[in-house]
Amino acid sequence: MADSAGRYAPSPSGDLHFGNLRTALLAWCFARQSGRQFYLRVEDIDSERSSAESAARQLEDLAAIGIEWDEPVIYQHERFDAYAAALARLDTYECYCTRRDIREAASAPHAQPGMYPGTCRNLTEEHRALRRSHLQSEGRLPAIRLRSAAGEWSVRDFYRGDYTGPVDDVILRRGGRVDQAQAGDWAYNLAVVVDDGDQGVDQVVRGDDLLASAPAQAYLAHLLGYAEPEYVHVPLVVNAEGKRLAKRDGAVTLREMAASDGADAVKEALARSIGADPGDVLGTFDAAALSREPWVWAPKV
Ligand SMILES: [Zn+2]
Repeated sequence: MADSAGRYAPSPSGDLHFGNLRTALLAWCFARQSGRQFYLRVEDIDSERSSAESAARQLEDLAAIGIEWDEPVIYQHERFDAYAAALARLDTYECYCTRRDIREAASAPHAQPGMYPGTCRNLTEEHRALRRSHLQSEGRLPAIRLRSAAGEWSVRDFYRGDYTGPVDDVILRRGGRVDQAQAGDWAYNLAVVVDDGDQGVDQVVRGDDLLASAPAQAYLAHLLGYAEPEYVHVPLVVNAEGKRLAKRDGAVTLREMAASDGADAVKEALARSIGADPGDVLGTFDAAALSREPWVWAPKV
């Protein structure tokens, strides 16, 4: 749709909290200051944890803090055909492993922590048929994994520079029980890459907890013929204990904070948290000057 775009992509499973809003504001500033389109994407791929009401409230809150965006807003639940088409273009294989299988294989000597050990990658057709029928008898579906040809991949991050990380045979479509299987079994790693690629997103601003997933996603983008985006991994907002801010930390959503302090005070706090003047956020935000430390959220006392 666009040659050059940024985006913010929340999961609609509740109201956005201060940390989410701050990341959204940063994504908007990065996109608009560089003359890009700015899109919102509703990551409702997980239909059990997502709701249309929550998505509508999130969009309202983003507008309320001064963010504006280009149309259309993309909803992942409407994108399953695009994910299927992308999957068909990739070199893949079925994986029959349970979580326990993977845990056990990962604890073997020489296994790399957190990486799929490749158990199902090189099975013979005969062995595959056996595993498939065993799985069927248990009412389960196999997962689909990428047959990765890269051991690692490098990405470009605005703050980190070149970042290289391992790439394993990531899951593209989840397995699970047949009676619970829905069309929504697409894996996040595939969906995010196809959505960004199809919308021309070439700048991905998001929390730095996602840095480690960037190499696999950029590699997938490369395989699918999309331009690999520039990443901007920004520090998270943490609570007083240094843990990632969460709903249990108190009145952390825009509506909760606005109820006690007023919406303008929240907008001001958000702008100041990224070092911008609340009167002109876009005009005064300085990407190079952004603190690289986590932002500590302190409730009013
Ligand atoms: Zn497997």
